Amino acid sequence: MASMDYDLTILGGGSGGLTAARIAASLGARVLLIDKERLGGDCLYTGCVPSKSLIHVARLVHQTRRATRLGLTTSSVEIDMVQVASSIQGVIKQVHEAEHVYTDDVTVKFGMVSFQSPTALIVNDEKITSRATIIATGSHPARSSIEGLAETGYLTNEDVFQLTQLPASLLIVGGGPVGVELGQALARLGVQVTIIQAGERILPREDADVSQTITNVLQSEGVKVITGARVLKAEKHAGKKSVIVQQGEKEDTITADEILLAAGRQPNIDGLRLDTIGVIFNEQGIKVDDYLRTSVANIFALGDVIGGYLFTHVAAYQAGVAVRNALLPVGKKKVNYRVVPWCTFTDPEAARVGLTYAEAQQQHRQVRIITLPWADIDRAQTEHAPTGFIKLILAGKKEEIVGAHMVGAHAGELLGEIALAMQHHLTVSAMLNAIHPYPTLHTGLQQALFEAYLSSTQLRTNKNIIGTALRLRK
Ligand SMILES: Cc1cc2nc3c(=O)[nH]c(=O)nc-3n(C[C@H](O)[C@H](O)[C@H](O)COP(=O)(O)OP(=O)(O)OC[C@H]3O[C@@H](n4cnc5c(N)ncnc54)[C@H](O)[C@@H]3O)c2cc1C
Repeated sequence: MASMDYDLTILGGGSGGLTAARIAASLGARVLLIDKERLGGDCLYTGCVPSKSLIHVARLVHQTRRATRLGLTTSSVEIDMVQVASSIQGVIKQVHEAEHVYTDDVTVKFGMVSFQSPTALIVNDEKITSRATIIATGSHPARSSIEGLAETGYLTNEDVFQLTQLPASLLIVGGGPVGVELGQALARLGVQVTIIQAGERILPREDADVSQTITNVLQSEGVKVITGARVLKAEKHAGKKSVIVQQGEKEDTITADEILLAAGRQPNIDGLRLDTIGVIFNEQGIKVDDYLRTSVANIFALGDVIGGYLFTHVAAYQAGVAVRNALLPVGKKKVNYRVVPWCTFTDPEAARVGLTYAEAQQQHRQVRIITLPWADIDRAQTEHAPTGFIKLILAGKKEEIVGAHMVGAHAGELLGEIALAMQHHLTVSAMLNAIHPYPTLHTGLQQALFEAYLSSTQLRTNKNIIGTALRLRK
């Protein structure tokens, strides 16, 4: 191969691209990172960081309003959205500043980029050659085919965090994690929220009990949840926005001040000229194999642009795999999605890793479920946050966790321990052997595991051994 300007070029400086750049540069490769506008990506500017900042503000408002139950007298909470929006931008700035380490020893260029050949790219009229390329250009809110929606106007995650004045009422189209998180947060900030979900339940990727519990919480906070409903049409009348919704045979018109579209994502591939070099893609994203290689041998792709698990931590995990495979001629690594944790940051949170009960039954023998009400965790009681449960899916003779589904305040924080245990095939008894500090939420996980032990064959065996030993001592 003729001499190339770079060993690796990465397109897109978001969660996946930045991680890939850092790993590749730390391995001594000559790395070019190209982003169309700025570093940080969806997660930093329009996704995880602003949404979790807004959720934090909304939780404080909610807790302050409920503080009288604890014997605290609070005056009414005034919400200044100009300040809230500015504090969210402040958090983004802080996180952005901490990200500068990702581009140490990396050449960074900004501008529109397109492929001229599998090894040549054009950026702002400059030609660049690279041995390998990783595409990590992310995704954008899926365009909607709803009649009249474009003319009516709507918000997405790309503008909602900059609002300095909230609408009095809001229709959210889409009951996935983005719609549900934003729905609860905005309702807590005083917006009258209606979530319209096409499927039979919100959070359809979650265990059905998780969806039901979160639905109950939302409804108890005044959010209207309409499921099994298809939005047919949108229109604007006298400053109000309406959608015509079909639910079975029935059609209804629902009116609000604003519409938020949260109905899926589409890959950012426009302008890259992928078709001219033979990179195969469809509506869901760029096609990759288990090595994250596209249909062109020296071009890899990761993150939201390949579809599948649309999470920051998955993009970062894929970055390690893609960089290794792009730089090393041998010892290629496959992706492994056996243990992928994720969390929907409602309050309480909905946290998941691994298989559902039905999936586990298809893949394993001796599958059982252990459930512990969140209210049984002492820390949950001290924090006055008893809603939820821990549901563990155990499999195999020695019993390993193959799936966990939780609802609870800060439930997402338990996922790290469960994911590590699953990754290393730790058994229930091995996990129980680790001492946990009381009263943390982690003791809740220990309680659930202890319940599993109490009903296990291992306990029966131990009981027999001890019974025999005790009889011999008589
Ligand atoms: C509201 C919301 C909340 C979310 N919350 C969470 C959460 O709590 N936890 C979680 O794990 N995930 C969350 N996500 C998902 C998360 O943001 C994405 O999965 C993650 O950002 C994907 O990383 P990426 O590297 O694939 O893309 P991105 O981080 O979006 O990076 C893509 C980059 O590519 C650049 N780019 C685009 N097109 C081009 C081009 N043609 N040429 C060059 N550069 C280009 C963009 O400017 C961008 O910088 C959330 C998403 C949304 C919308």
